Amino acid sequence: MSRIYADIIVDISQEKLDKSFQYEIPEELQGQVEIGKRVRIPFGNGGRELTGYVIGLSEEPKIEPDRIKAILAVEDRGMEIESRLISLAGWIARQYGSTMNQALKTVLPVKEKETAKEKRYLCLAAPEEACIPFLEEYRRKHYKAKERLLQALMEKKTLEYTYAAAELKITASVIRGLEEKGLLKIERERDYRNPVFKGEDRKNLEISPLSPAQKEVCREIFAEWETEHPRPCLIKGVTGSGKTEVYMELITHVLEQGQQVIVLIPEIALTYQNVSRFYRRFGDCVSLINSRLSKGERFDQFERAKKGEVSIVIGPRSALFTPFPNLGLILIDEEHEDSYKSEKTPCYHARETAIRRGEMEGAHVVLGSASPSVESYYKGKTGEYKLLYLEERYGGSRLPQVFVVDLKEELKTGNRSMFSSVLTEKIRDRLQRKEQVMLFLNRRGYTGFVSCRSCGHVMKCPHCDVSLTSHRNGRLICHYCGYETWDVSKCPVCGSPYIGGFKAGTQQIEVLLQKSFPGAGVLRMDADTTKKKDDHEKILAAFARGEADILIGTQMIVKGHDFPNVTLVGALAADLSLCSEDYRAAEKTFQLLLQAVGRAGRGQRAGEAVIQTYHPEHYSILAAQTQNYEDFYQQEIRYRMLMDYPPAAAMAAVRGACTDEALLKEAMSYCRKYVKRIYPKEDLVLIGPAPETVSKVQDYYKMVLYMRHKDREMLVKLKDALEKYIAVNKGFQNIYIQFDFNV
Ligand code: ADP
Ligand code: ZN
Ligand code: ZN
Repeated sequence: MSRIYADIIVDISQEKLDKSFQYEIPEELQGQVEIGKRVRIPFGNGGRELTGYVIGLSEEPKIEPDRIKAILAVEDRGMEIESRLISLAGWIARQYGSTMNQALKTVLPVKEKETAKEKRYLCLAAPEEACIPFLEEYRRKHYKAKERLLQALMEKKTLEYTYAAAELKITASVIRGLEEKGLLKIERERDYRNPVFKGEDRKNLEISPLSPAQKEVCREIFAEWETEHPRPCLIKGVTGSGKTEVYMELITHVLEQGQQVIVLIPEIALTYQNVSRFYRRFGDCVSLINSRLSKGERFDQFERAKKGEVSIVIGPRSALFTPFPNLGLILIDEEHEDSYKSEKTPCYHARETAIRRGEMEGAHVVLGSASPSVESYYKGKTGEYKLLYLEERYGGSRLPQVFVVDLKEELKTGNRSMFSSVLTEKIRDRLQRKEQVMLFLNRRGYTGFVSCRSCGHVMKCPHCDVSLTSHRNGRLICHYCGYETWDVSKCPVCGSPYIGGFKAGTQQIEVLLQKSFPGAGVLRMDADTTKKKDDHEKILAAFARGEADILIGTQMIVKGHDFPNVTLVGALAADLSLCSEDYRAAEKTFQLLLQAVGRAGRGQRAGEAVIQTYHPEHYSILAAQTQNYEDFYQQEIRYRMLMDYPPAAAMAAVRGACTDEALLKEAMSYCRKYVKRIYPKEDLVLIGPAPETVSKVQDYYKMVLYMRHKDREMLVKLKDALEKYIAVNKGFQNIYIQFDFNV
């Protein structure tokens, strides 16, 4: 029988992760030792024993086998949170392709030196009478430091440790001396700060009863939870239908069971307005994690969660790893959001990882969205998830009326401005009525595609059905297959000379607005105006207070805020994302438009929305106009099935980066050849390697190879094989390879 070794860490703080030690797994323990398990090990030569965590298994000894000691025992305390998180890290490493170390760093909180924000106090521990003899003794023996300290303590009763050290010039050994005599105690105070909210007024808390539709959704979810193998639940509910109220009902139920809850909300929607609802309802047991927190603060929050001081954590993707000891529920709001996917290795998806964590810890998972991702909705339709609906806005307020404007027609009438005549007229009307307007420029995935302003024709790759990207060298390039052609000066379909890239930015729009509507107050929100951490929140708050009539911005503005006075939303160029080159383009366009449109008329007054587009006939635009998700989904799933795109098949990307273009090209084509060699069957589709959409970043060239197969596990196996191939192959030494299973 071959020997098996385990990599073990004895300290699971992040900075110690690199220090793992190899131990042999004795025969009688084989099968019991798994990633995440706590084990007893002999440590050092003094016969010391320690507890450690298994973070890896292998058959290869790193040093001479005879010098490797054996594990003594497996500590089966089963329920320990660290064990579970480590084993979740093991799953992440394999599923998404990263080292165990990278995965552990994702999952475990950072413990940094600076986080010891802990104040320590020196407290007098003995009555004064008992101190006097010691004081006299110190004087007699000229123990100056001890005398100083004791005297100060007798006067003040408590001293701050740092004060004592700095001002009284007291060393640790002096303190220890007094401590040993029972004269002083060191008290620690964890300086926890709940970063945003303190004492939110909860006195007037009134929980309004759920509507019959909300009650029904809760009832069905509770019923699912009673089954033997509860499935993840997906709530599809239009904006304003009261999903958040349903979440709060579910949370209440889980808290009553003595369990804890993680609520994931996209970072951009973690606004005061959204989060304060949870604080008002649940008070101090809520804790917020966002990117504004320092690493130390985040660590504090995780500590509080572990100790049971909080039972609800609200945060973005990374909050998923909150170390709750008895997790009962993971809620993911706006589950379709891109931000749930990590861009860094490991490129994990919070939704999939949440479901995995839920399975491991017996916690429920509930997803919610007004426009679920096609993949999740598909799983809902096929029964893998339990699908629930909230079809009406709470209180019956009407969905906005949507007008679609064909920009080609506008051009024909001679209007070449960025505002159609319908939109111009409606903006003027709102300004007169002192109502507010939001203008939304969809720049998602905008990478310089080329389209005709007369007929809407978009230059596409003849092989891939994706739009070509114009490059400065006058070439149009397909980033899926590498196809290239010369840029055009005339539309190949209608011959119009008005063909080119769409060159509108939020800034140009701001200038134009000020010209067309002098006197109107305009706020702009885009990457330029939101450089500082709370700029985003500030702009939204100013707009909410009515400090401007018009808010223009990128997709940032469509999320996370209710503005009761907004009665008009304009989507200036809805197609920008439609023409982006990935297969999710239509889905993303539809989702953004639906969200944007949903911003209008959230208050008493009815809302309107204007969608300007070159593709008024496209199903994603039509479905956004009628705000009909189902229509959209039916068309989209047909396309995915036809093209074998997810969820019809699984797709993974092998991304390579290198400063040497030729080297990268060669290495990437070796990847392709290797995969083809070990898996020659036809059911594996390989696309590329081709340059990435952004083909060079900071002197690194980037290329991507796509793999497509019905079975995701097959792709994971190919990834495993590729990882090994790359590790032993010298040609990859200077190339960064990243795997991405959610392309
Ligand atoms: P969603 O999360 O689906 O967009 P919300 O939960 O924000 O919807 O609800 C929309 C609005 O309706 C909110 O202002 C909310 O306070 C109100 N609302 C929803 N459900 C109820 C209820 N049961 N009782 C009172 N108000 C409700
Ligand atoms: Zn044309
Ligand atoms: Zn192509």
